[in-house]
Amino acid sequence: MVQWKKYALILAIATGFIIGVAVGFGFGKSAGVLKPLGDFFIRLMRMIVTPLVIITISAAVAQIADLRKLGKLVIGTFVIFISLSIIAAAWMLGPALYFKPGAGVGLTPPPGYKPPTPPTVADILLNLVPTDFGNILNVSGLLQAIVFSILFGLAVSLLGDKGRPISEALLRLSDVMIKLTTIIMWYAPIGVFGYAAWVIGTYGVGILVAYGRLLAVDYAFSLIFFFVAYTIVVWLSGLNPLKYWYAIIEPAIIAFSTRSSAVALPVNLKIAKEKLNVPDYVAQLVLPTGATCHMDGTAMYQVLSTVFIAQVFGLPISPALYGTIIVVAALAAVATAAVPSGGLLMLAMTVGAAGMPLEGIALITPIDPLLDMLRTMINAEGDVAVSTLMARILEGPKWWEKGKQSA
Ligand code: ASP
Repeated sequence: MVQWKKYALILAIATGFIIGVAVGFGFGKSAGVLKPLGDFFIRLMRMIVTPLVIITISAAVAQIADLRKLGKLVIGTFVIFISLSIIAAAWMLGPALYFKPGAGVGLTPPPGYKPPTPPTVADILLNLVPTDFGNILNVSGLLQAIVFSILFGLAVSLLGDKGRPISEALLRLSDVMIKLTTIIMWYAPIGVFGYAAWVIGTYGVGILVAYGRLLAVDYAFSLIFFFVAYTIVVWLSGLNPLKYWYAIIEPAIIAFSTRSSAVALPVNLKIAKEKLNVPDYVAQLVLPTGATCHMDGTAMYQVLSTVFIAQVFGLPISPALYGTIIVVAALAAVATAAVPSGGLLMLAMTVGAAGMPLEGIALITPIDPLLDMLRTMINAEGDVAVSTLMARILEGPKWWEKGKQSA
């Protein structure tokens, strides 16, 4: 019975998506009236994501009594995150230069367009800490919520026996949040249906033709990275990669249609723990931090869009700048908020670093939703792959057989 229910939900979400696409094609712009169905789902998810992040991360850190293990988990996770993002950004540079998706597009930015100001490195670092506690309660303050939660969990862990009741309570609260996610997920098929109809209805066939080449390069090479890189990462963890690919179907559709890694996080947590058996303390640290700090899809998009803009304006990019573009794209991906089109704002960082006109970002804006769908799916599911590798690093071979455990 329980087994049947699991399949039923995946099937319902996939069906919602397919019907939504069909309705979008059939009704065109009028399918936009269905958008509120998707908005409602996003609101439900946004409602739970901040408490989920705070509770799960602090619970994970509080559980780890062994500080060396904690250090290994935090440092290992970030090293893997940033290495993958740099590989992703470097991978996309070749196809972007070779296939020249921007050559001959010849569009001009709309009059009066004001490019967003790129944040400075000091801004990014200062932004790790909120000005007020209240800031961490917004979805846009997730990065700050993560910093707070790691420190809070550390304080609980350092309290030793005195902190134990709090760490127990945090664990129970994590269970409550996962349960809440399960309840909300029953609405997901309708939300996904509404968003699919709206996006296809609004950006349907016309835009696919105009920006075909950009989309083709983006989809082809991002998907190759997605399949090859994460199959290797999961294989390194010792787990059969097919298990991973099967488990992520549900969150991948959620990420693809909602365009928000934060929205996909609750489902990612659920499947990592329940379907892949990733230990709680690993999943609860890697996935929430990954949702905001690890975005390989966004890193690839940053590189491709920057090169595209240069080509549209007919400006050459000096090979001396390739390294800068790759590193800045990976950093911009770390700083990107896990919300729809969060990466569009951060594009200013990479485009600016390459010395290209920021006005070019206006060219990307109309098709950003279509690019965003794919990159969000890659962003979100890359975290699940990394959580399996961290489980291998911390728990040794056959970590999935050890069952539920704390550190
Ligand atoms: N929408 C993406 C995400 O949530 C971020 C981006 O726009 O690049 O992962």
